Amino acid sequence: MASHSQTMRAMQLHQTGKMVLDRLAFTAEAPIPQPGRGQLRVRVHTCGVCRTDLHTVEGDLDLPRSLPLIPGHQVVGTVDTTGEDVTRHQIGDRVGVGWMNWTCGECDFCRSGLENLCPHARFTGLHVDGGYAEWLLVDERFAYALPAGLSDAAAAPLLCGGVIGYRTLRLSGIEAGGRLGLYGFGASAHQAIQVAVHWGCEVYVFTRSEEHRKLALELGAAWTGDANDIPPESLDAAAIFAPAGWIVARALGHVRPGATVAINAIHMSPIPELPYERIYGERVLRSVANFTRRDAEEFLRLAAEIPIRTEIETFPLTEANHALRKLSASELRAAAVLAVT
Ligand SMILES: [Zn+2]
Ligand SMILES: [Zn+2]
Repeated sequence: MASHSQTMRAMQLHQTGKMVLDRLAFTAEAPIPQPGRGQLRVRVHTCGVCRTDLHTVEGDLDLPRSLPLIPGHQVVGTVDTTGEDVTRHQIGDRVGVGWMNWTCGECDFCRSGLENLCPHARFTGLHVDGGYAEWLLVDERFAYALPAGLSDAAAAPLLCGGVIGYRTLRLSGIEAGGRLGLYGFGASAHQAIQVAVHWGCEVYVFTRSEEHRKLALELGAAWTGDANDIPPESLDAAAIFAPAGWIVARALGHVRPGATVAINAIHMSPIPELPYERIYGERVLRSVANFTRRDAEEFLRLAAEIPIRTEIETFPLTEANHALRKLSASELRAAAVLAVT
């Protein structure tokens, strides 16, 4: 319910820099945002902590607006106020909010189902204040109904790595029962494997980490190895989750003619020169950028149906710096989620 005061608790970024210092400052006096036309105001229950938040805080991304900024783009909350012309959601609805906060709806990309590529898109926690706070705003088109079976904490990590992992599977062209390679096995891949196993795929997981191979087998992988290993069968599709360019040539070498290798990474080290025969045979190499509403809606339904399990570690809002520092030092054993209200 709306608080009577006009200010809210939030963690704000005033100056970017490496997370050796606390970069987010707690305030109890951030203004509570007021929804404009077509917008919802969401009372935040939980907000996931994503590697992109770390990139934002550390200054790796160009900031499109002035500071202070509130990060956070894996938000679960309840609609508590609606702006004019809101028709899809009502006060009291539980919704999820991800990276896409608004798109223009008019450009060629938006009109052709590629709103994830809209050049005018605004992102949650980058252009628009995000979920490390008690309230945030979102265009109602980008608030997703959440199936009742998902708890507030469990739903948060689905809203970024989970949805993007799902889009990566879609763009890899993997079909039910096919042989799929997953390269790298972080938060996004370990949600993607659960979808692929649910589709009856045979999943081959390539990772250096012994611990990740064990987890992959527990989650239903048919085979695990290192990216330098040759899988026993040639693959129908591959999805790369590790930001290492050298893996591209390996994955192209593992897939059959006509197969797609989809890269799920915002940054990747340069892709070394590769012999043409690696891609000859109509193999396709493509990247994956953001996601569409369709991806989010389909994935959230699937996540509840499967159901997808994610390990989570919760922190109070005021410990967002601590959570980011642990993420930066690879000390998190699970997805970090802030418990906000
Ligand atoms: Zn994210
Ligand atoms: Zn657009």
